Amino acid sequence: MKARNPRTGEEDYEFTVSSRDDVAVEAARLRAAQPAWEALGPEGRAAVLNKFADAVDAGAQAIAEALSIDTGRKAVAWIEVEGLARNLRKWAARGPDLFAGLPSDPEPSAMPGFDIVPRYDAYPLFGAICPWNFPVILSHIDAVPALMAGCAALVKPSEVTPRFVEPMREVLAQVPELPLAYVMGGPDVGQALIEEVDYVCFTGSTGTGRKVAEAAARQLIPANLELGGKDPMIITASADPEWAAGVALRSSIVATGQACQSIERIYVAREIAEPFLDALVEGANAVRLTYPDASSGHIGPFIFPPQGAKVQEQIDQARSAGARVLAGGQIEQLDGGTYLRPTVLADVTPDMAVIRQETFGPVLPVTIFDDIEDAITQANDTEYGLSAAVLAGSMEEASQVGARLEAGAISLQDGALTSMVSDATNESRKASGLGPSRMGDSGMLRFLRRQSLIRQNGEAATIDAYAEAQR
Ligand code: NAD
Repeated sequence: MKARNPRTGEEDYEFTVSSRDDVAVEAARLRAAQPAWEALGPEGRAAVLNKFADAVDAGAQAIAEALSIDTGRKAVAWIEVEGLARNLRKWAARGPDLFAGLPSDPEPSAMPGFDIVPRYDAYPLFGAICPWNFPVILSHIDAVPALMAGCAALVKPSEVTPRFVEPMREVLAQVPELPLAYVMGGPDVGQALIEEVDYVCFTGSTGTGRKVAEAAARQLIPANLELGGKDPMIITASADPEWAAGVALRSSIVATGQACQSIERIYVAREIAEPFLDALVEGANAVRLTYPDASSGHIGPFIFPPQGAKVQEQIDQARSAGARVLAGGQIEQLDGGTYLRPTVLADVTPDMAVIRQETFGPVLPVTIFDDIEDAITQANDTEYGLSAAVLAGSMEEASQVGARLEAGAISLQDGALTSMVSDATNESRKASGLGPSRMGDSGMLRFLRRQSLIRQNGEAATIDAYAEAQR
């Protein structure tokens, strides 16, 4: 299978797709290694995760270079690789404390004569199916706490961005005691993985998430789904309009808007709408593409060009339905790369695709509101519920508005904090996800199964206790 370079448009990388047998063999190998891994205990596993983190640091250049070809980004590629090492060290530090905090003393039962001894073990084989937008971070975000919990981990990165796996496998070879492996390919390999594992974490689009949930249901395994979003930002009349414009712009266009937690809808109070829009347009026009110099600028090419086409369709549809394009608005093809400058849209209406569907691009549709109640209603009028943001003149006001938004994580006085603050436990709502939080301690605890040893401290009943009798 071939992968495309988003800066040149050339299919310049070939990789081997895992066959159904390859997936089964890898799964069996990991399953065989898992009991010894779990038996190492929390401290033993933490030591191996720290060793892996050191190996990632040592191999960071090669991983970041490969990743940067697939994503067309340099700085963010480094942020991802450094983030992986941080994730490993974070769980290596936190995991043993969480295990130490698990109850292990006998608990009295409400049923006379019994008590219960709790114990915990890990789902043996964890599986991850991952997207292309942050390939390194999102291929390991759940696998690392699963490994800390005692699972073995089988990961399927996106077929759109496979290049980091080659250098990653070299790093992994230095830590042979770590039961982690990658399988490569598209939907079929994803389905095969679901058939092999005991617990699946999926990060990707809502449409694919439904298919993963169906397949997991057939296998009767838990599926955690981290799906799409259409995150709103409410900016109240008391907010400073220029500051708000800067926060909104960054929160929307980082990584070319290809982030689940990007701000994709802005609701601004009429009192400050004019200076806000002026500042937003000025800021948008000052943003530079990372072209032709890949080492400067803010906005790189779309990683997956069909995404660019979808974004253009939403912009065109909005424009033909009466929206005004105040900045950007037109995809540019530059040396085989697909780029879009920050696009500010005004006079948008709630029925437009740019307001209803996930965009996944650097597009800021702005709606002006007169009444905060109306802004809250519009912000909540979506099938998604991943995250949201509020900017106001005070934290107190932002909190009051934020608590009324139907989403898992709400950024106050900032935007798009969801993935940056890894201990902010939250569950996505509506079509944005399913299952326990990947953030916070539940990120690891969800991979443990509680077992109860039920102790009979009196006399076990005989069959006569259940003999039929007249009552
Ligand atoms: P996608 O749904 O197209 O693909 C994700 C993964 O699923 C890929 O590895 C793909 O090969 C695999 N896949 C596709 N069809 C499958 C099937 N039928 N069975 C099993 N596996 C299958 O998503 P994408 O386009 O790679 O990523 C972008 C999407 O991911 C956006 O919607 C974005 O919002 C979402 N996302 C969500 C989060 C989050 O934490 N909520 C984070 C990042 C991205």
